Amino acid sequence: MSDAARKFLVAVLMFLAAGAAIGWLYDRPGLGLMVAALLALLWQVRQLLSFDRALRTGNFDDFRQGEGIWEQIFSRFQYENEKAKRRKLGYRQLLREVRKSTNAMPDGAIILNLENEIIACNRAAKQLASIKRKKDRGQRVDNILRDPELTRLLRANDQSLTVEIVSPIDGGQWLNCRVVPYGLDQKLLLLRDVTERIRLSKMRRDFVANASHELRSPLTVIAGYLDSLAGGDDVPADWVKPVSQMQGQAKRMRHILGDMLELSRLESAGVASAEDAVDVSRLLEDARSAFEGHADVASIVIDAEPGALLRGSGAEIETVIVNLLSNAIRFTPTEGKITLAWRVAADGADLIVTDTGEGIDAEHVPRLTERFFRVDKGRARDQGGTGLGLAIVKHVLARYEAELVINSEPGEGSEFRCHFPSDRVVVAPS
Ligand code: ADP
Repeated sequence: MSDAARKFLVAVLMFLAAGAAIGWLYDRPGLGLMVAALLALLWQVRQLLSFDRALRTGNFDDFRQGEGIWEQIFSRFQYENEKAKRRKLGYRQLLREVRKSTNAMPDGAIILNLENEIIACNRAAKQLASIKRKKDRGQRVDNILRDPELTRLLRANDQSLTVEIVSPIDGGQWLNCRVVPYGLDQKLLLLRDVTERIRLSKMRRDFVANASHELRSPLTVIAGYLDSLAGGDDVPADWVKPVSQMQGQAKRMRHILGDMLELSRLESAGVASAEDAVDVSRLLEDARSAFEGHADVASIVIDAEPGALLRGSGAEIETVIVNLLSNAIRFTPTEGKITLAWRVAADGADLIVTDTGEGIDAEHVPRLTERFFRVDKGRARDQGGTGLGLAIVKHVLARYEAELVINSEPGEGSEFRCHFPSDRVVVAPS
């Protein structure tokens, strides 16, 4: 207990005792005590009302001096008040700093609630996505940035997912968007200007496509002359082998150019159309018939669900199958086995090519879908590979929002699994 409180208690007790003593003099100690208590109460009520008035008017002059309990209450109140003021000032300063730094950020940041309504945004978001801080507060962000990709991102609620959309502002900048949830009911939509990267990658794509296209015609002429030369009887004996080798290399170059053009096409194509339903089992059968029976080809087994169809392009799915199957054939000895499977699962369907071939070291697996990556460059080249097959597979699958999962064990074999989402799969009633 503080000194002032102790003094206050003592004073009250003494006042009550004095009241009782005076009452005793008149032979009415009880009455004296009651009157003293009433007076003490009235005094405290008066002090309370003055304090209330002081709180309302801010004039605490009556409480500034002295050592009584009310002066003590006032000085405590003043101390807490000053502390709160200092804290508020500190918060305000901090808020100003945070606002200044978020406004200095080159990336846009929009705070959203769970309904994707805008709560606040920084200056970059204003500039990149044309969001008006006051006018657009409370608006759904997908009503301002109208893009199905952004709607998909907001629905997915997946921090690792990013999408690229065109900004509604005049320059048509490309924005990379990502959603980061925080707290219980808020999320941050981050926008990054990636226009330059997109422009450079388009330039690269166009260059590769144009160069491949330009190289095709002269190569066709060279290959044509080589074919005529090889087919004629008037080639000197010591030229037969070089002509045949040149023929082989010209064929390989045509193959590489074809794959490069296919990759460029896939890179600039959007989501695959879902209009046609592709009979994957039939495509697997056709692929087997095309390869089986050739010398040095392992046995090919099919394990497919004939009733399951895939929404997309037959030619693209065939490209996936042919690339995976031709790899399996090249890397599996004749006595090995290759399985082509097509299975429906709870979350979609899987197209799986498994082989009992040489397998791949785990360190190489993450790089297999890179362009021109081969585990054994010389050998893969000699076997006729372009190094683009799995890159093409990956790009086709991206158009279906499908995933390529590679499992391999050196010396045991490999499994290439293409997982398609359920909205691409149609299961015909049996
Ligand atoms: P390539 O035309 O060289 O086959 P790909 O992109 O199709 O190019 O494959 C890249 C590399 O992945 C191959 O060179 C090979 O090293 C490895 N690879 C692909 N499929 C298999 C497989 N079934 N078994 C073993 N290695 C494989």
